[in-house]
Amino acid sequence: MRICRTSSEMQQACRELKKNTVPERGLGFVPTMGALHAGHLSLIALARAECDVVVASIFVNPRQFAAGEDFAVYPREFEEDCRKLESAGVEILFAPAPDDMYPSGATTFVEVEGIGNRLDGASRPGHFRGVATVVAKLFNIVGPDRAYFGQKDAAQVAVLRAMVRDLNFPVNLVACPTVREEDGLAMSSRNRYLSADERRRALILSRTLEAAQHLVKTEVRGAQVLRDALPEALAADPLLQIDYVAVVDPGTLEPIENIDNGALIAIAAWFGKTRLIDNVVIEPVAQRANPDLSQAPARELSHA
Ligand code: AMP
Repeated sequence: MRICRTSSEMQQACRELKKNTVPERGLGFVPTMGALHAGHLSLIALARAECDVVVASIFVNPRQFAAGEDFAVYPREFEEDCRKLESAGVEILFAPAPDDMYPSGATTFVEVEGIGNRLDGASRPGHFRGVATVVAKLFNIVGPDRAYFGQKDAAQVAVLRAMVRDLNFPVNLVACPTVREEDGLAMSSRNRYLSADERRRALILSRTLEAAQHLVKTEVRGAQVLRDALPEALAADPLLQIDYVAVVDPGTLEPIENIDNGALIAIAAWFGKTRLIDNVVIEPVAQRANPDLSQAPARELSHA
């Protein structure tokens, strides 16, 4: 695996690499902030299966962290990450320094208005401006045909889809399913911040979402019912602090009233000093595998 440290070296290397691809399979790209786990590796595996060549990046992007957030302590495990990427079959890794990505005088930003200020964008002002800016730069440096992102960060997927559409990036954005620990906790580089007690309590997120999914399958169609029921279920852990509970359109991130046309149910919550997010996507009724489960017993959300 070749490692490129500067944008110009990376741009050149990707151009060379793309010469060897057939247009339908092309170059697949997986941007990350490192501290890689099985969630990240699932993105690489899908890119590997779908593309001729696979490129990844590791860059802890200072511009997507607000003052007081965990930029300084964000886990950095470069050597181990390189081993994982190499054995996953990545051809080139881009690992630039902040100065290379943002030389002094770099004052251009990408702002996805509206969508970029919802969910995590509302809780973390400036976050999606930083994300959209760095991903736009990475797309221009790498020139991918397909780029892979985790559905775990559902709001990020919505913001980047809007950016790709609005700025005509010639890239196909692929959203990949959330990879979970055996007990259901969504994998995240930030899970390592949790104490043993917080780790145990954090299961309430996936369990609440699972119960919400079950309610949708059996009886609930109104989004407000879920918006009321989820915080009630989360109140079972009095130490947990809800950041947001959202039932929104997965594309626009705007609140919806009825979930028949599909929905994103998303939660962000604090466990001590650690903020975790998780979500499920509800398919439109017409696309649900088994939409008529009216005979199935409803499971109470409060039992989550
Ligand atoms: P990060 O390193 O946190 O910026 O994540 C890099 C990419 O991996 C993003 O597209 C994330 O959405 C994705 N990702 C993170 N955790 C998971 C997970 N548990 N399952 C699937 N994808 C994930």
